[in-house]
Amino acid sequence: MEITQLYAIATGGILVILMLVNFRPYIEALLRAASLPTSKYLTYPRIIHRHRYFGPWSRADVTVQFLYIAVNTFCVGFRFPNVSTAGLRAANLSLINMVPNFAGSHLSFLADILGVPLRTYQQIHRSSGIMSVSLLLFHVLTIIGSRNPFPLQVAENLWGLIGGCSLLLLLLLSNPFLRSFSYEILIRIHQALAVVSAYSIWRHLELKPLVPRIYAYIFAATFLSTFLLQGFFIHRSQARIVHFEDTIKVELTLSRPLKVKAGQYINLWIPSLSFWSTFQSHPFTVASWSDREQVSLDLFIEPRGGMTQKLLHRLTFGSDSSQPRLDGSLPRLALFSGPHGISAPVGDYETVLMVSSGSGIVAQLPYLKQLIYGYNSRKSRTRRVHLVWQLETRETGIAVQSIINEVLTNDAFHIKRRNTVGRDNGSDSGSADLERSIERVDAVQHPQLVNVHNGPADLEKILRGEMEAKLQEAEERGETLVMVSGTDELRDQLRELVRTYLDNQMSLLELEYQPA
Ligand SMILES: Cc1cc2nc3c(=O)[nH]c(=O)nc-3n(C[C@H](O)[C@H](O)[C@H](O)COP(=O)(O)OP(=O)(O)OC[C@H]3O[C@@H](n4cnc5c(N)ncnc54)[C@H](O)[C@@H]3O)c2cc1C
Repeated sequence: MEITQLYAIATGGILVILMLVNFRPYIEALLRAASLPTSKYLTYPRIIHRHRYFGPWSRADVTVQFLYIAVNTFCVGFRFPNVSTAGLRAANLSLINMVPNFAGSHLSFLADILGVPLRTYQQIHRSSGIMSVSLLLFHVLTIIGSRNPFPLQVAENLWGLIGGCSLLLLLLLSNPFLRSFSYEILIRIHQALAVVSAYSIWRHLELKPLVPRIYAYIFAATFLSTFLLQGFFIHRSQARIVHFEDTIKVELTLSRPLKVKAGQYINLWIPSLSFWSTFQSHPFTVASWSDREQVSLDLFIEPRGGMTQKLLHRLTFGSDSSQPRLDGSLPRLALFSGPHGISAPVGDYETVLMVSSGSGIVAQLPYLKQLIYGYNSRKSRTRRVHLVWQLETRETGIAVQSIINEVLTNDAFHIKRRNTVGRDNGSDSGSADLERSIERVDAVQHPQLVNVHNGPADLEKILRGEMEAKLQEAEERGETLVMVSGTDELRDQLRELVRTYLDNQMSLLELEYQPA
Protein backbone atom coordinates (compact mmCIF):
# COMPACT_ATOMS: atom_id res chain seq x y z
CA MET A 1 0.00 0.00 0.00
CA GLU A 2 1.27 3.43 -0.91
CA ILE A 3 1.46 6.29 1.57
CA THR A 4 -1.05 8.23 -0.58
CA GLN A 5 -3.58 5.42 -0.09
CA LEU A 6 -3.12 5.65 3.68
CA TYR A 7 -3.72 9.40 3.41
CA ALA A 8 -6.91 8.78 1.40
CA ILE A 9 -8.21 6.30 4.02
CA ALA A 10 -7.47 8.68 6.90
CA THR A 11 -9.13 11.67 5.17
CA GLY A 12 -12.15 9.57 4.15
CA GLY A 13 -12.46 8.27 7.73
CA ILE A 14 -12.49 11.79 9.19
CA LEU A 15 -15.16 12.93 6.70
CA VAL A 16 -17.36 9.92 7.49
CA ILE A 17 -17.04 10.59 11.25
CA LEU A 18 -18.04 14.25 10.76
CA MET A 19 -21.04 13.19 8.67
CA LEU A 20 -22.15 10.64 11.27
CA VAL A 21 -21.92 13.24 14.04
CA ASN A 22 -24.04 15.64 11.97
CA PHE A 23 -26.70 13.02 11.15
CA ARG A 24 -26.75 11.58 14.67
CA PRO A 25 -30.38 12.57 15.48
CA TYR A 26 -31.64 10.87 12.27
CA ILE A 27 -29.52 7.79 12.92
CA GLU A 28 -30.88 7.57 16.47
CA ALA A 29 -34.47 7.90 15.21
CA LEU A 30 -33.83 5.17 12.64
CA LEU A 31 -32.35 2.87 15.28
CA ARG A 32 -35.34 3.48 17.58
CA ALA A 33 -37.75 2.61 14.76
CA ALA A 34 -35.78 -0.54 13.93
CA SER A 35 -35.49 -1.62 17.56
CA LEU A 36 -38.82 -3.52 17.88
CA PRO A 37 -38.60 -5.52 14.60
CA THR A 38 -34.92 -6.26 15.35
CA SER A 39 -35.79 -7.58 18.81
CA LYS A 40 -38.79 -9.56 17.53
CA TYR A 41 -37.14 -11.25 14.58
CA LEU A 42 -33.42 -11.16 15.29
CA THR A 43 -32.23 -10.76 18.88
CA TYR A 44 -34.85 -12.68 20.91
CA PRO A 45 -35.51 -15.80 18.77
CA ARG A 46 -32.79 -18.39 19.22
CA ILE A 47 -31.43 -20.65 16.52
CA ILE A 48 -29.14 -22.62 18.80
CA HIS A 49 -30.17 -23.11 22.41
CA ARG A 50 -27.86 -23.12 25.41
CA HIS A 51 -25.58 -26.12 25.69
CA ARG A 52 -22.96 -26.81 28.32
CA TYR A 53 -20.01 -25.42 26.35
CA PHE A 54 -21.61 -23.31 23.63
CA GLY A 55 -24.64 -21.20 22.79
CA PRO A 56 -27.16 -19.75 23.06
CA TRP A 57 -27.07 -18.09 19.63
CA SER A 58 -29.83 -15.81 18.46
CA ARG A 59 -30.60 -15.10 14.80
CA ALA A 60 -28.73 -11.80 15.22
CA ASP A 61 -25.63 -13.60 16.57
CA VAL A 62 -25.61 -16.05 13.67
CA THR A 63 -26.20 -13.27 11.10
CA VAL A 64 -23.35 -11.14 12.48
CA GLN A 65 -20.94 -14.10 12.53
CA PHE A 66 -21.98 -15.10 9.02
CA LEU A 67 -21.38 -11.55 7.73
CA TYR A 68 -18.02 -11.42 9.48
CA ILE A 69 -16.90 -14.66 7.81
CA ALA A 70 -18.34 -13.56 4.44
CA VAL A 71 -16.51 -10.20 4.46
CA ASN A 72 -13.17 -11.82 5.31
CA THR A 73 -13.63 -14.55 2.68
CA PHE A 74 -14.55 -11.90 0.11
CA CYS A 75 -11.39 -9.91 0.92
CA VAL A 76 -9.17 -12.99 0.56
CA GLY A 77 -10.74 -14.07 -2.74
CA PHE A 78 -11.38 -10.61 -4.27
CA ARG A 79 -10.73 -10.73 -8.06
CA PHE A 80 -9.55 -14.34 -7.83
CA PRO A 81 -5.85 -13.76 -7.05
CA ASN A 82 -3.31 -16.57 -7.36
CA VAL A 83 -2.83 -18.79 -4.32
CA SER A 84 0.24 -17.04 -2.95
CA THR A 85 -1.42 -13.57 -3.18
CA ALA A 86 -4.52 -14.96 -1.43
CA GLY A 87 -2.22 -16.42 1.26
CA LEU A 88 -0.52 -13.06 1.81
CA ARG A 89 -3.89 -11.30 1.97
CA ALA A 90 -5.06 -13.84 4.55
CA ALA A 91 -1.94 -13.11 6.64
CA ASN A 92 -2.58 -9.35 6.49
CA LEU A 93 -6.25 -9.82 7.34
CA SER A 94 -5.27 -12.08 10.22
CA LEU A 95 -3.14 -9.26 11.64
CA ILE A 96 -5.93 -6.69 11.20
CA ASN A 97 -8.43 -8.98 12.93
CA MET A 98 -6.03 -9.39 15.84
CA VAL A 99 -6.22 -5.70 16.81
CA PRO A 100 -9.13 -6.15 19.32
CA ASN A 101 -7.24 -9.09 20.87
CA PHE A 102 -4.04 -7.14 21.47
CA ALA A 103 -5.57 -3.72 22.12
CA GLY A 104 -5.10 -3.91 25.89
CA SER A 105 -4.36 -6.09 28.88
CA HIS A 106 -7.80 -5.76 30.49
CA LEU A 107 -11.00 -6.64 28.65
CA SER A 108 -13.14 -4.64 31.12
CA PHE A 109 -11.25 -1.50 30.21
CA LEU A 110 -11.54 -2.11 26.45
CA ALA A 111 -15.28 -2.78 26.84
CA ASP A 112 -15.60 0.58 28.63
CA ILE A 113 -13.76 2.39 25.84
CA LEU A 114 -16.16 0.96 23.24
CA GLY A 115 -19.18 1.47 25.53
CA VAL A 116 -20.28 -2.16 25.33
CA PRO A 117 -20.97 -4.69 28.12
CA LEU A 118 -18.06 -6.92 29.14
CA ARG A 119 -19.91 -9.96 27.72
CA THR A 120 -20.09 -8.30 24.28
CA TYR A 121 -16.39 -7.49 24.28
CA GLN A 122 -15.57 -11.05 25.33
CA GLN A 123 -17.59 -12.21 22.30
CA ILE A 124 -15.68 -9.81 20.00
CA HIS A 125 -12.40 -11.07 21.50
CA ARG A 126 -13.41 -14.70 20.85
CA SER A 127 -14.69 -14.14 17.30
CA SER A 128 -11.70 -12.07 16.17
CA GLY A 129 -9.33 -14.61 17.73
CA ILE A 130 -10.94 -17.52 15.88
CA MET A 131 -10.99 -15.53 12.63
CA SER A 132 -7.30 -14.53 12.95
CA VAL A 133 -6.15 -18.08 13.60
CA SER A 134 -8.30 -19.44 10.72
CA LEU A 135 -6.79 -16.90 8.30
CA LEU A 136 -3.34 -17.70 9.60
CA LEU A 137 -3.92 -21.41 8.97
CA PHE A 138 -4.93 -20.56 5.40
CA HIS A 139 -1.70 -18.55 5.04
CA VAL A 140 0.32 -21.55 6.31
CA LEU A 141 -1.51 -23.92 3.93
CA THR A 142 -0.67 -21.72 0.94
CA ILE A 143 3.02 -21.79 1.98
CA ILE A 144 2.95 -25.58 2.33
CA GLY A 145 1.09 -25.85 -1.00
CA SER A 146 3.68 -23.71 -2.81
CA ARG A 147 6.35 -26.38 -2.03
CA ASN A 148 8.95 -23.63 -1.78
CA PRO A 149 11.72 -24.34 0.74
CA PHE A 150 11.03 -22.97 4.25
CA PRO A 151 14.43 -23.04 5.99
CA LEU A 152 14.12 -22.54 9.74
CA GLN A 153 17.63 -21.08 9.86
CA VAL A 154 16.07 -17.93 8.41
CA ALA A 155 14.91 -15.92 11.44
CA GLU A 156 11.76 -14.68 9.68
CA ASN A 157 10.59 -18.26 9.07
CA LEU A 158 11.46 -19.44 12.56
CA TRP A 159 9.56 -16.59 14.24
CA GLY A 160 6.64 -17.12 11.87
CA LEU A 161 6.47 -20.76 12.93
CA ILE A 162 6.73 -19.93 16.66
CA GLY A 163 4.07 -17.20 16.34
CA GLY A 164 1.70 -19.46 14.39
CA CYS A 165 2.11 -22.37 16.83
CA SER A 166 1.58 -20.19 19.91
CA LEU A 167 -1.55 -18.62 18.40
CA LEU A 168 -2.96 -22.04 17.54
CA LEU A 169 -2.19 -23.34 21.04
CA LEU A 170 -3.73 -20.20 22.52
CA LEU A 171 -6.95 -20.85 20.61
CA LEU A 172 -7.07 -24.53 21.58
CA LEU A 173 -6.53 -23.74 25.27
CA SER A 174 -9.37 -21.18 25.21
CA ASN A 175 -11.79 -24.09 25.11
CA PRO A 176 -14.39 -23.58 27.90
CA PHE A 177 -14.16 -27.28 28.77
CA LEU A 178 -10.46 -26.90 29.68
CA ARG A 179 -11.09 -23.59 31.45
CA SER A 180 -13.58 -25.29 33.75
CA PHE A 181 -10.67 -27.26 35.32
CA SER A 182 -8.62 -24.27 36.41
CA TYR A 183 -9.64 -20.85 35.19
CA GLU A 184 -6.70 -19.12 36.83
CA ILE A 185 -3.92 -21.35 35.43
CA LEU A 186 -5.39 -21.33 31.91
CA ILE A 187 -5.83 -17.56 31.87
CA ARG A 188 -2.14 -17.12 32.80
CA ILE A 189 -1.08 -19.55 30.03
CA HIS A 190 -3.36 -17.62 27.66
CA GLN A 191 -1.63 -14.34 28.55
CA ALA A 192 1.86 -15.86 28.31
CA LEU A 193 1.10 -17.29 24.86
CA ALA A 194 -0.29 -13.91 23.77
CA VAL A 195 3.02 -12.26 24.73
CA VAL A 196 5.02 -14.94 22.85
CA SER A 197 2.76 -14.53 19.78
CA ALA A 198 3.05 -10.73 19.79
CA TYR A 199 6.86 -10.89 20.03
CA SER A 200 7.11 -13.58 17.32
CA ILE A 201 4.85 -11.63 14.97
CA TRP A 202 7.02 -8.57 15.49
CA ARG A 203 10.21 -10.54 14.68
CA HIS A 204 8.51 -12.21 11.70
CA LEU A 205 7.56 -8.82 10.22
CA GLU A 206 10.75 -6.96 11.14
CA LEU A 207 12.23 -7.00 7.63
CA LYS A 208 8.95 -6.75 5.70
CA PRO A 209 7.72 -3.56 3.95
CA LEU A 210 5.70 -0.89 5.79
CA VAL A 211 2.52 -2.88 5.16
CA PRO A 212 2.20 -5.35 6.96
CA ARG A 213 4.76 -4.00 9.51
CA ILE A 214 2.42 -1.10 10.26
CA TYR A 215 -0.06 -3.50 11.91
CA ALA A 216 2.56 -4.38 14.50
CA TYR A 217 3.05 -0.66 15.20
CA ILE A 218 -0.72 -0.26 15.57
CA PHE A 219 -0.81 -3.17 18.09
CA ALA A 220 2.03 -1.68 20.09
CA ALA A 221 0.59 1.87 20.05
CA THR A 222 -2.94 0.78 21.08
CA PHE A 223 -1.66 -1.58 23.75
CA LEU A 224 0.66 1.03 25.24
CA SER A 225 -1.90 3.84 25.23
CA THR A 226 -4.67 1.73 26.82
CA PHE A 227 -2.17 0.36 29.34
CA LEU A 228 -1.09 3.87 30.38
CA LEU A 229 -4.68 5.17 30.40
CA GLN A 230 -5.69 2.30 32.67
CA GLY A 231 -3.35 3.71 35.33
CA PHE A 232 -5.80 6.59 35.91
CA PHE A 233 -8.52 4.12 36.89
CA ILE A 234 -6.58 2.25 39.57
CA HIS A 235 -7.67 3.09 43.13
CA ARG A 236 -6.31 2.39 46.57
CA SER A 237 -8.42 1.32 49.53
CA GLN A 238 -8.47 -0.51 52.86
CA ALA A 239 -10.58 -3.67 52.89
CA ARG A 240 -12.44 -5.16 55.84
CA ILE A 241 -13.51 -8.69 55.04
CA VAL A 242 -16.20 -10.50 57.00
CA HIS A 243 -18.39 -13.50 56.26
CA PHE A 244 -21.96 -14.59 56.98
CA GLU A 245 -21.76 -18.37 56.77
CA ASP A 246 -20.97 -18.86 53.07
CA THR A 247 -21.24 -15.26 51.87
CA ILE A 248 -18.29 -12.87 52.10
CA LYS A 249 -18.76 -9.15 52.56
CA VAL A 250 -15.92 -6.76 51.66
CA GLU A 251 -16.11 -3.15 52.81
CA LEU A 252 -13.64 -0.94 50.98
CA THR A 253 -12.69 2.37 52.57
CA LEU A 254 -11.42 4.48 49.70
CA SER A 255 -8.40 6.76 49.79
CA ARG A 256 -10.42 9.31 47.79
CA PRO A 257 -14.17 9.53 47.07
CA LEU A 258 -15.38 7.88 43.89
CA LYS A 259 -18.57 8.11 41.83
CA VAL A 260 -19.90 4.65 41.01
CA LYS A 261 -23.03 4.29 38.89
CA ALA A 262 -25.62 1.61 39.64
CA GLY A 263 -24.67 -1.75 38.14
CA GLN A 264 -20.97 -0.98 37.77
CA TYR A 265 -18.25 -3.32 39.00
CA ILE A 266 -14.61 -3.17 40.00
CA ASN A 267 -11.68 -5.54 39.47
CA LEU A 268 -10.42 -6.20 42.99
CA TRP A 269 -6.84 -7.07 43.87
CA ILE A 270 -5.88 -7.91 47.47
CA PRO A 271 -2.18 -8.83 47.25
CA SER A 272 -1.71 -9.64 50.95
CA LEU A 273 -4.21 -12.52 51.02
CA SER A 274 -1.83 -15.17 49.76
CA PHE A 275 1.10 -15.64 47.39
CA TRP A 276 -1.20 -16.46 44.44
CA SER A 277 -3.58 -13.57 45.13
CA THR A 278 -0.69 -11.25 44.18
CA PHE A 279 -1.25 -12.30 40.57
CA GLN A 280 -5.05 -12.21 40.54
CA SER A 281 -7.75 -9.61 40.24
CA HIS A 282 -11.44 -10.50 40.18
CA PRO A 283 -14.54 -8.56 39.09
CA PHE A 284 -17.20 -7.80 41.73
CA THR A 285 -20.30 -5.63 41.51
CA VAL A 286 -20.49 -2.60 43.79
CA ALA A 287 -23.60 -3.25 45.87
CA SER A 288 -23.69 0.16 47.56
CA TRP A 289 -25.06 3.20 45.72
CA SER A 290 -25.25 6.93 46.28
CA ASP A 291 -26.14 9.85 44.04
CA ARG A 292 -22.89 11.43 45.19
CA GLU A 293 -19.32 10.20 45.33
CA GLN A 294 -18.90 7.29 47.76
CA VAL A 295 -16.18 7.06 50.41
CA SER A 296 -16.69 3.36 50.99
CA LEU A 297 -17.93 0.55 48.75
CA ASP A 298 -19.68 -2.71 49.69
CA LEU A 299 -19.07 -5.93 47.80
CA PHE A 300 -20.76 -9.30 48.37
CA ILE A 301 -18.88 -12.38 47.26
CA GLU A 302 -20.26 -15.84 46.70
CA PRO A 303 -17.28 -18.20 47.04
CA ARG A 304 -16.48 -20.26 43.93
CA GLY A 305 -13.65 -22.78 43.49
CA GLY A 306 -10.53 -20.61 43.37
CA MET A 307 -9.36 -17.48 45.19
CA THR A 308 -12.82 -16.72 46.64
CA GLN A 309 -13.08 -20.22 48.16
CA LYS A 310 -9.60 -19.87 49.68
CA LEU A 311 -10.63 -16.51 51.10
CA LEU A 312 -13.67 -18.02 52.83
CA HIS A 313 -11.55 -20.89 54.11
CA ARG A 314 -9.02 -18.50 55.61
CA LEU A 315 -11.80 -16.45 57.21
CA THR A 316 -13.32 -19.50 58.86
CA PHE A 317 -10.45 -21.93 59.59
CA GLY A 318 -7.15 -20.37 58.56
CA SER A 319 -5.37 -21.92 55.59
CA ASP A 320 -3.86 -25.40 55.41
CA SER A 321 -0.38 -23.89 55.39
CA SER A 322 1.19 -21.92 58.21
CA GLN A 323 -0.95 -18.87 57.43
CA PRO A 324 -3.20 -17.94 60.38
CA ARG A 325 -6.93 -17.43 60.23
CA LEU A 326 -7.80 -14.14 58.59
CA ASP A 327 -8.90 -11.44 61.02
CA GLY A 328 -11.77 -9.69 59.24
CA SER A 329 -11.66 -6.70 61.58
CA LEU A 330 -8.13 -5.79 60.46
CA PRO A 331 -8.13 -3.56 57.37
CA ARG A 332 -5.78 -4.64 54.58
CA LEU A 333 -4.55 -2.96 51.43
CA ALA A 334 -6.78 -3.51 48.40
CA LEU A 335 -6.28 -2.04 44.95
CA PHE A 336 -8.95 -2.02 42.30
CA SER A 337 -9.56 -0.82 38.77
CA GLY A 338 -12.82 0.74 37.70
CA PRO A 339 -15.61 1.46 38.05
CA HIS A 340 -16.28 -0.60 34.92
CA GLY A 341 -19.45 -1.44 33.04
CA ILE A 342 -22.52 0.28 31.71
CA SER A 343 -25.25 1.58 33.97
CA ALA A 344 -28.73 1.05 32.50
CA PRO A 345 -31.06 4.11 32.39
CA VAL A 346 -33.64 2.36 34.62
CA GLY A 347 -35.28 5.63 35.66
CA ASP A 348 -36.60 6.11 32.09
CA TYR A 349 -38.96 3.14 32.45
CA GLU A 350 -42.46 3.31 33.89
CA THR A 351 -42.23 -0.17 35.41
CA VAL A 352 -39.14 -2.09 36.46
CA LEU A 353 -39.28 -5.79 37.28
CA MET A 354 -36.08 -7.11 38.87
CA VAL A 355 -35.57 -10.85 38.86
CA SER A 356 -32.60 -12.53 40.47
CA SER A 357 -31.51 -15.80 41.98
CA GLY A 358 -29.00 -16.34 44.79
CA SER A 359 -26.12 -13.87 44.83
CA GLY A 360 -27.51 -12.23 41.65
CA ILE A 361 -29.39 -9.89 44.01
CA VAL A 362 -26.09 -8.01 44.43
CA ALA A 363 -26.34 -6.67 40.88
CA GLN A 364 -29.93 -5.45 41.48
CA LEU A 365 -29.38 -3.70 44.84
CA PRO A 366 -27.71 -0.50 43.56
CA TYR A 367 -30.44 -0.12 40.90
CA LEU A 368 -33.12 -0.60 43.55
CA LYS A 369 -31.55 2.12 45.68
CA GLN A 370 -31.23 4.43 42.69
CA LEU A 371 -34.87 3.89 41.68
CA ILE A 372 -36.18 4.65 45.14
CA TYR A 373 -33.98 7.72 45.40
CA GLY A 374 -35.12 8.80 41.91
CA TYR A 375 -38.77 8.42 42.87
CA ASN A 376 -38.41 10.34 46.14
CA SER A 377 -36.47 13.15 44.49
CA ARG A 378 -38.74 13.13 41.39
CA LYS A 379 -35.76 12.47 39.14
CA SER A 380 -37.09 9.28 37.59
CA ARG A 381 -40.21 8.27 35.61
CA THR A 382 -40.52 4.90 37.33
CA ARG A 383 -43.84 4.26 39.08
CA ARG A 384 -43.70 0.53 39.80
CA VAL A 385 -40.79 -1.58 41.02
CA HIS A 386 -41.17 -5.29 41.62
CA LEU A 387 -38.26 -7.34 42.93
CA VAL A 388 -38.33 -11.14 42.68
CA TRP A 389 -35.50 -12.91 44.45
CA GLN A 390 -35.10 -16.67 44.42
CA LEU A 391 -33.06 -17.72 47.43
CA GLU A 392 -31.41 -21.09 47.62
CA THR A 393 -29.71 -20.63 50.99
CA ARG A 394 -30.55 -18.64 54.08
CA GLU A 395 -27.03 -17.17 54.28
CA THR A 396 -27.31 -15.10 51.11
CA GLY A 397 -30.48 -13.58 52.55
CA ILE A 398 -28.85 -12.77 55.86
CA ALA A 399 -25.78 -11.23 54.19
CA VAL A 400 -27.72 -8.65 52.19
CA GLN A 401 -30.70 -8.36 54.54
CA SER A 402 -29.45 -5.12 56.10
CA ILE A 403 -29.21 -3.43 52.68
CA ILE A 404 -32.65 -4.67 51.60
CA ASN A 405 -34.19 -3.48 54.86
CA GLU A 406 -32.48 -0.11 54.53
CA VAL A 407 -33.79 0.24 50.97
CA LEU A 408 -37.33 -0.69 52.02
CA THR A 409 -37.21 1.76 54.94
CA ASN A 410 -36.48 4.56 52.48
CA ASP A 411 -39.20 3.38 50.12
CA ALA A 412 -41.80 6.06 49.49
CA PHE A 413 -43.42 4.22 46.57
CA HIS A 414 -45.73 2.09 48.61
CA ILE A 415 -46.99 4.71 51.01
CA LYS A 416 -47.29 7.60 48.58
CA ARG A 417 -49.03 5.62 45.87
CA ARG A 418 -51.59 4.23 48.27
CA ASN A 419 -52.34 7.65 49.66
CA THR A 420 -52.66 9.46 46.37
CA VAL A 421 -54.16 6.86 44.06
CA GLY A 422 -56.05 4.82 46.62
CA ARG A 423 -55.76 1.49 44.83
CA ASP A 424 -58.19 -1.15 45.88
CA ASN A 425 -56.85 -3.96 43.75
CA GLY A 426 -54.24 -4.88 46.32
CA SER A 427 -51.33 -4.19 43.99
CA ASP A 428 -48.56 -2.08 45.44
CA SER A 429 -46.37 0.31 43.55
CA GLY A 430 -43.20 -1.03 45.06
CA SER A 431 -43.02 -4.60 46.24
CA ALA A 432 -40.67 -7.52 46.66
CA ASP A 433 -41.26 -11.24 46.29
CA LEU A 434 -38.86 -13.60 47.98
CA GLU A 435 -39.05 -17.11 46.63
CA ARG A 436 -37.45 -19.71 48.88
CA SER A 437 -37.19 -23.41 48.49
CA ILE A 438 -35.74 -24.29 51.89
CA GLU A 439 -37.06 -22.20 54.78
CA ARG A 440 -39.07 -19.06 55.23
CA VAL A 441 -37.20 -15.77 55.50
CA ASP A 442 -38.08 -14.36 58.88
CA ALA A 443 -35.71 -11.42 59.13
CA VAL A 444 -37.56 -9.08 56.78
CA GLN A 445 -38.69 -5.98 58.65
CA HIS A 446 -41.30 -4.80 56.13
CA PRO A 447 -44.03 -7.42 55.79
CA GLN A 448 -46.33 -4.91 54.08
CA LEU A 449 -43.86 -4.67 51.18
CA VAL A 450 -42.57 -8.22 51.01
CA ASN A 451 -44.31 -11.46 50.05
CA VAL A 452 -42.48 -14.66 50.92
CA HIS A 453 -43.28 -17.76 48.84
CA ASN A 454 -41.95 -21.29 48.94
CA GLY A 455 -40.72 -22.96 45.77
CA PRO A 456 -39.61 -21.44 42.47
CA ALA A 457 -41.15 -18.18 41.26
CA ASP A 458 -44.04 -18.39 38.79
CA LEU A 459 -42.48 -15.93 36.35
CA GLU A 460 -45.23 -16.27 33.78
CA LYS A 461 -47.82 -15.21 36.35
CA ILE A 462 -45.63 -12.37 37.60
CA LEU A 463 -45.09 -10.95 34.10
CA ARG A 464 -48.78 -11.27 33.28
CA GLY A 465 -49.59 -9.50 36.56
CA GLU A 466 -47.26 -6.65 35.67
CA MET A 467 -48.84 -6.29 32.23
CA GLU A 468 -52.37 -6.29 33.65
CA ALA A 469 -51.41 -3.70 36.27
CA LYS A 470 -49.94 -1.54 33.54
CA LEU A 471 -53.04 -1.82 31.35
CA GLN A 472 -55.17 -0.60 34.26
CA GLU A 473 -53.14 2.60 34.49
CA ALA A 474 -55.27 5.59 33.52
CA GLU A 475 -52.23 7.72 32.74
CA GLU A 476 -49.99 7.34 29.72
CA ARG A 477 -48.48 3.85 29.70
CA GLY A 478 -44.72 3.75 29.62
CA GLU A 479 -42.21 1.02 28.94
CA THR A 480 -41.46 -1.96 31.17
CA LEU A 481 -37.93 -3.14 31.84
CA VAL A 482 -37.24 -6.64 33.11
CA MET A 483 -33.76 -6.86 34.64
CA VAL A 484 -32.27 -10.25 35.35
CA SER A 485 -29.25 -11.49 37.24
CA GLY A 486 -29.67 -15.19 37.76
CA THR A 487 -28.95 -18.70 36.60
CA ASP A 488 -28.88 -19.66 32.91
CA GLU A 489 -32.29 -21.37 33.22
CA LEU A 490 -33.87 -18.32 34.82
CA ARG A 491 -32.51 -16.04 32.08
CA ASP A 492 -33.61 -18.36 29.28
CA GLN A 493 -37.09 -18.67 30.75
CA LEU A 494 -37.44 -14.90 31.13
CA ARG A 495 -36.20 -14.25 27.60
CA GLU A 496 -38.90 -16.51 26.17
CA LEU A 497 -41.57 -14.85 28.33
CA VAL A 498 -40.50 -11.27 27.56
CA ARG A 499 -40.46 -12.14 23.86
CA THR A 500 -44.23 -12.60 23.99
CA TYR A 501 -44.66 -9.08 25.44
CA LEU A 502 -42.33 -7.18 23.09
CA ASP A 503 -45.32 -5.48 21.42
CA ASN A 504 -46.40 -4.22 24.85
CA GLN A 505 -43.19 -2.21 25.24
CA MET A 506 -41.46 -4.74 27.47
CA SER A 507 -37.74 -5.47 27.16
CA LEU A 508 -35.18 -7.62 28.94
CA LEU A 509 -31.82 -6.51 30.29
CA GLU A 510 -29.25 -9.10 31.38
CA LEU A 511 -27.01 -7.43 33.96
CA GLU A 512 -23.20 -7.63 33.86
CA TYR A 513 -23.05 -10.12 36.75
CA GLN A 514 -24.79 -13.43 36.22
CA PRO A 515 -24.25 -15.97 39.03
CA ALA A 516 -23.42 -19.52 37.96
C1 LIG B 1 -18.94 -8.15 35.74
C2 LIG B 1 -18.89 -9.18 36.84
C3 LIG B 1 -19.36 -8.87 38.10
C4 LIG B 1 -19.32 -9.83 39.12
N1 LIG B 1 -19.81 -9.52 40.36
C5 LIG B 1 -19.80 -10.44 41.34
C6 LIG B 1 -20.31 -10.15 42.64
O1 LIG B 1 -20.76 -9.05 42.94
N2 LIG B 1 -20.28 -11.14 43.57
C7 LIG B 1 -19.79 -12.40 43.29
O2 LIG B 1 -19.79 -13.26 44.16
N3 LIG B 1 -19.28 -12.69 42.07
C8 LIG B 1 -19.27 -11.75 41.10
N4 LIG B 1 -18.76 -12.06 39.86
C9 LIG B 1 -18.19 -13.39 39.64
C10 LIG B 1 -16.78 -13.43 40.26
O3 LIG B 1 -15.93 -12.54 39.57
C11 LIG B 1 -16.20 -14.84 40.18
O4 LIG B 1 -17.06 -15.69 40.88
C12 LIG B 1 -14.82 -14.86 40.81
O5 LIG B 1 -13.91 -14.19 40.00
C13 LIG B 1 -14.41 -16.29 41.00
O6 LIG B 1 -13.09 -16.33 41.48
P1 LIG B 1 -12.41 -17.74 41.87
O7 LIG B 1 -10.93 -17.60 41.77
O8 LIG B 1 -12.94 -18.21 43.18
O9 LIG B 1 -13.03 -18.61 40.71
P2 LIG B 1 -12.64 -19.97 40.01
O10 LIG B 1 -13.24 -21.10 40.77
O11 LIG B 1 -11.19 -20.02 39.69
O12 LIG B 1 -13.46 -19.77 38.66
C14 LIG B 1 -14.87 -19.88 38.65
C15 LIG B 1 -15.43 -19.05 37.50
O13 LIG B 1 -15.35 -17.67 37.87
C16 LIG B 1 -15.03 -16.88 36.72
N5 LIG B 1 -13.78 -16.15 37.01
C17 LIG B 1 -12.74 -16.54 37.76
N6 LIG B 1 -11.78 -15.60 37.80
C18 LIG B 1 -12.23 -14.59 37.03
C19 LIG B 1 -11.68 -13.33 36.64
N7 LIG B 1 -10.48 -12.92 37.07
N8 LIG B 1 -12.41 -12.55 35.81
C20 LIG B 1 -13.63 -12.94 35.37
N9 LIG B 1 -14.20 -14.11 35.71
C21 LIG B 1 -13.51 -14.93 36.52
C22 LIG B 1 -14.88 -17.83 35.56
O14 LIG B 1 -16.10 -17.87 34.86
C23 LIG B 1 -14.64 -19.16 36.20
O15 LIG B 1 -15.11 -20.22 35.42
C24 LIG B 1 -18.80 -11.12 38.85
C25 LIG B 1 -18.32 -11.43 37.56
C26 LIG B 1 -18.36 -10.48 36.57
C27 LIG B 1 -17.85 -10.84 35.20
